[in-house]
Amino acid sequence: MLIQTAQRRNRKRLGARFGLCYLDAMSRLQIHQIPVLSDNYVYLAHCAETGETAVVDPAVAAPVLQEAERLGWRITHILNTHHHGDHVGGNLEIKQATGCRIIGPSYDTARIPGIDLEVREGDRVALGKAEAEVFFVPGHTRGHIAYWFADSDALFCGDTLFALGCGRLFEGTPAQMWDSLQKLRRLPASARVYCAHEYTQSNARFALSIEGDHEKLRARAADIDARRARKEPTVPSLLGEEVETNPFLRADDPALAQALGLSNADPVEVFAEVRARKDSF
Ligand code: ZN
Ligand code: FE
Repeated sequence: MLIQTAQRRNRKRLGARFGLCYLDAMSRLQIHQIPVLSDNYVYLAHCAETGETAVVDPAVAAPVLQEAERLGWRITHILNTHHHGDHVGGNLEIKQATGCRIIGPSYDTARIPGIDLEVREGDRVALGKAEAEVFFVPGHTRGHIAYWFADSDALFCGDTLFALGCGRLFEGTPAQMWDSLQKLRRLPASARVYCAHEYTQSNARFALSIEGDHEKLRARAADIDARRARKEPTVPSLLGEEVETNPFLRADDPALAQALGLSNADPVEVFAEVRARKDSF
C-alpha cells in the first residue's frame, strides 16, 4: 500500500522512486458487489497481480468476510467514504479478523472507527498495481470523500452520487453538494458509478415526476423497472448516463430549470429545489 500526495503525482517520478514497473501499466481491478442490509452495497476490489483486496464501505462484517473467503481474496484494506454506520459498521470486526489497514477521510478521522491512514483531496491510494485518486465531496456529510480508480473506470462515491439520485444533505449545503457533484461529473462518461445504495427505482420515479417527457429518462426508467423485476442490481451505472438523465447532475441544464419553473435561475438554486422536492417526495 502506497499513499502518494498530490505533489508526487508525476508517474515517471513514482516509478523511479519506488523502483517498480511504471505505474501507467496498471492493472484493472476485479470488483465484486455484495448486497447487505436492506439496500446497501459493499464492494470488494481486488488486484489479481498482487492479491491485495480492499473492502469499500463495509456496513457489516460477516457477509463481507464470508464472500472474501469464498472468492479466495485476502482483505488487506478498508476504504471508507464517510462516517455513517451503514458504511463503517464492519470496520473493527474486519480489521480484527484480517489485520487490514483502514483508510478514510482526513476531514473526519474522529468518526471513522479504527482509521490508520487519513487521505484528502488529490491524494493517491495504491491498491496493489491499481491506484485511486481521492476527491473531497462534502454535502451528504461534511467529510465525505470518493475514490476514483481511473485505470479500472471505477468510481466509489459512497452516498454522494447515486444512480439517478444523490445523497441527502445531512451536514452540507446545496452549494457544497453541487460543487462536489460537478467534480464527479468531470470524470469520463465510461466511469462506472459504484454507489452504496440500491435506490435507483424510486429515484427514477422522482426524476420522472419532474421531467415526465424526457425520452432518455423514460427509457432508462423502463430498463430499471425490468431489471428490478428480475431482482437484478441497477448499480453500477455509467457516468455518461447519469450526466444525461440524473437531475442532480443537471442543475445547470436549462431544460431542467424550465421544468421546475426556474428558468434563468442560478444552478445552486435549481439544485436546492430538486433536492428539496426529493426530500418530500
Ligand atoms: Zn451515508
Ligand atoms: Fe449510506
